[in-house]
Amino acid sequence: MKPKLLLYQPRCLFFTMPLGPLAVASAVNRDRVQPIIIDGRLDADPVAVVEPHLDEAVCFGVSVLTGAPIEDALRVSREVKARRPELPVIWGGWHPSLFPLEVLAEAECVDVVVCGQGEATLRELVECYLDGWGVAGVAGIALRVDGEPRMTDARPLVPYGELPAADYSLLPVERYFARKKRRQLDYVTSVGCHYRCRFCADPAVFKRQRSAIPLDRVVEELAELAFRFGIEDVNFQDETFFSSRRWTVDLATRLIERGSRFSWAATMRADQGARLTDDDFLLLARSGLRKLLIGVEAGSSRMLERLGKDITLNQIETVARYSQKHDIAATYPFIFGIPGEQPADVEASLRLARRLKSMNWKNTTPFFFFKPYPGSKLFNDVAAEGFKLPKTLDEWSRFDYVTTSSPWVSDADVQRVRMAGFFSQLGWSRPRWWAMPVQALARLRCRTGNYRLPVEKAVIEHLQPPLPLA
Ligand code: SF4
Repeated sequence: MKPKLLLYQPRCLFFTMPLGPLAVASAVNRDRVQPIIIDGRLDADPVAVVEPHLDEAVCFGVSVLTGAPIEDALRVSREVKARRPELPVIWGGWHPSLFPLEVLAEAECVDVVVCGQGEATLRELVECYLDGWGVAGVAGIALRVDGEPRMTDARPLVPYGELPAADYSLLPVERYFARKKRRQLDYVTSVGCHYRCRFCADPAVFKRQRSAIPLDRVVEELAELAFRFGIEDVNFQDETFFSSRRWTVDLATRLIERGSRFSWAATMRADQGARLTDDDFLLLARSGLRKLLIGVEAGSSRMLERLGKDITLNQIETVARYSQKHDIAATYPFIFGIPGEQPADVEASLRLARRLKSMNWKNTTPFFFFKPYPGSKLFNDVAAEGFKLPKTLDEWSRFDYVTTSSPWVSDADVQRVRMAGFFSQLGWSRPRWWAMPVQALARLRCRTGNYRLPVEKAVIEHLQPPLPLA
């Protein structure tokens, strides 16, 4: 029996397939090691799932995001260490990549941190463990040397097209379909992004580099996966899917030529969308494009500039019109409470969100409150200005991007923004004859800004409690 590489996906509140663990599992030498992915979101007691594999394990890897997943990652890592103290525990993913030394200084249960892109690094680590070598010469990691956390040399980004294809047979794909309530495959064609948004950690982690899989390979893989799993929908998880007009237009053309039957969704920057033509959008819609995620973040040029978004209000309007015309749903997230935001900026964002929502009842405009994401430019700014950032892993595990307010927005504004968000969704929700009076009242509330006695909100939330997000 081959030794096992155990990879753990900590609990969180969404059911995207664990593409990070899948990518590293697909890249190891399968002649020498058997990768096993365990997902804390699928099993009530993940430690009980891990336990039977521990005797044959060569190491235990965990993919860790900032926020609530840290708590679960720590808990399961500690349980693993308690059962097999000599088994190397490796953390990778966004949070440890940004704080490798801090993680090692605090979490005794973690032996090694993989920084940034993990496929080649984990493959090399596994080979070292299998051969009984030390790992101090492996590039792209942090480890303890004489008890002190140390970084090894940085590892250059491996071109994404040179990495092996994700082997979806390593995932219980049907269980994800069941959780998502649709046969939707998560798939990624690229890593990194060329842009410089000041609230985002991507530029720090990937140094504004982007690397993509060649189009031919994407088309072949998707055709094979669609046939094998009976896929209805593909959710492209790229940071910036529409980086090249030629690439996406060619993809749409090839999907149509192949007669692919699945719909698809992807992220789009407003500037990228505005560079497409009406014919391009028609082609994309014909190829199955059903939904876009377009980060708007703010409704005033001033705040867009502050965020380093490098998009304009005109580009947002253009892309929204294209999406409306071709009946492509869009999610337009907004961030409130950005440092330096004025009441006029808040009003501009609320106005733009209403406009975007009103263009198609399928559109959504989720509202978030600014929290400095570790590794981002704004994070460094607010830290320099004296904002007290979390220090310990326990504090980071309570760092929440959605539900709590921030020092840059008053409680009254949080309430007003939440009210505006709720009534805008309600007012321009799917037209139904029996809901028309409530929808009309909601639209009136949005236009006048009068959210007093929100009885309809209380009733709706009583009947359908909002999902907690973190
Ligand atoms: S928010 Fe998106 S476009 Fe901006 S830097 Fe991050 S990944 Fe790139």
